[in-house]
Amino acid sequence: MKTAAVIGSGVAGLATAIRLALQHFEVTVFEANSTFGGKMTEFSMEGYRFDKGPSLFTMPHLVDDLFYAAGRFPTDYFRYQILEIITKYHFADGTELHAYHDPHKFQEEVERTLGIPKKKVKWFLKRSAQLYNATSSTFLHKSLHKFSTYFSPDILKTLAAVPRLGLRKTMHQTNARDFEDPRFVQLLDRFATYNGSDPYQAPATLNIIPHLEHNIGAFYPENGIISIAKSLHKLAVELGVKFRFNEKAEEITLAENRKKVTGLRTAQATYQFDAVVSNMDVVPTYRKLLPTLKAPEKTLRQPRSSSALIFYWGINRTFPDLHLHNIFFSQDYKKEFEHIFKHKTISQDPTIYVNITSKFTKSDAPENAENWFVMVNVPHNEGQDWDKLIAETRQHVLQKLSRHLKTDLQNHLACEKTWDPRGIELETGSVGGALYGSSSNNAMAAFLRHPNFKRKVKGLYFCGGSVHPGGGIPLCLLSAKIVSNLVKNDYR
Ligand code: FAD
Repeated sequence: MKTAAVIGSGVAGLATAIRLALQHFEVTVFEANSTFGGKMTEFSMEGYRFDKGPSLFTMPHLVDDLFYAAGRFPTDYFRYQILEIITKYHFADGTELHAYHDPHKFQEEVERTLGIPKKKVKWFLKRSAQLYNATSSTFLHKSLHKFSTYFSPDILKTLAAVPRLGLRKTMHQTNARDFEDPRFVQLLDRFATYNGSDPYQAPATLNIIPHLEHNIGAFYPENGIISIAKSLHKLAVELGVKFRFNEKAEEITLAENRKKVTGLRTAQATYQFDAVVSNMDVVPTYRKLLPTLKAPEKTLRQPRSSSALIFYWGINRTFPDLHLHNIFFSQDYKKEFEHIFKHKTISQDPTIYVNITSKFTKSDAPENAENWFVMVNVPHNEGQDWDKLIAETRQHVLQKLSRHLKTDLQNHLACEKTWDPRGIELETGSVGGALYGSSSNNAMAAFLRHPNFKRKVKGLYFCGGSVHPGGGIPLCLLSAKIVSNLVKNDYR
């Protein structure tokens, strides 16, 4: 039986372990932390439960696929529901807009609140779907670094779509060209943050992201996002995957000619494996685990994605007007992104995201209370004075939310905890605490992400948010699928 090691048990590591076990590999997952999930973990304090990292769940079929591949019914492990109201938006001028999943209701809401004709919104979402459908099979489902990708029939569809992808324009430029209302432009520009990018630099290609949320839908997993990691871990264990927690990989060992992987070394032991998949950030994979291999410097030096500052607040009352996902926009979006990507700091008026899972899972907060995950986008860690930035931002966030909600929020904080780029880096090994590896702030970003394999080193693979096709739960799951297809090809 062939053997494989997966370094890291983030969502991509879990999915890769499952897929390799299904290919009859004997799989061992090495995890530096005491539990699985990586960025996708949870914690509780004083009767409030919080998902610590991701909160928005799209493309749930990619999770289902893993259970079907294993001959199981997904619902025996993992249940979710579609959100009727995806997000409630609060604009700086006081306008409030509900983003309904139902396309007609959404179009009517945009027309009613912002005065944008329904047909324009419909046209935008239709174009987003067309571009996604023309490009996803090439850009998301396959390795961009294999010749076979460019000789598949899908490539014709992708090439035909290239002129419409807007590679030479930024997301903001096309959105501002297509819509006059700056509030709707802000709403559409925000989708750049779904992979930690800046809409004023990222190519208009990222306008395919609204398709995932609006046309396919946003979902809520029963008992929170953590249930994704829990259900995948359960399936992996059932398939015979072994987990070695608190065992950090220290080196990926190579044959003398460096053309083949031989296994890995931890502080406890040296292990032999036929294949090794790194689910940890690709930068430390090279710098720490593969010191004798020539590193792809251009790839590793790509600008990092944004990080996050999160306040987890136990709130001792309820806010019936808020929903699961709530956005409180800044007045000046351009300035906000300049602060993040140019000045590497946080603006005094950041856009605030509030996620409240107790709206769906009542046990996530005590009775008549709510668990608030309050997040602002921030730069990755480059040694900023985070304690000062956090204290200032906390005040700005409290003031802004109190103003919008017409209540002094400070009086309702029952307990709190903070997570910042330093902590994200420390706990997940992600360089600078970047949420999504490198940013997509230039048209070539997709091609500059690290491939899912290492050319000239047999048995070495990469999955997870820092490599192709990118960060976020769906793309991480797709990276696992690409790796498993590569392995299938290499070991058949
Ligand atoms: P990671 O989660 O990065 O895990 C890597 C694992 O490798 C860790 O467990 C780490 O301990 C382990 N590791 C590192 N080094 C070693 C070593 N040497 N040996 C052994 N183990 C090691 N995505 C969404 O889709 N929706 C969202 O709403 C969303 N919001 C987010 C909010 C926050 C605050 C954060 C932090 C992320 C968010 N994301 C979101 C991004 C998403 O969480 C990530 O893209 C995804 O979870 C990354 O998974 P991964 O498989 O790349 O591994």
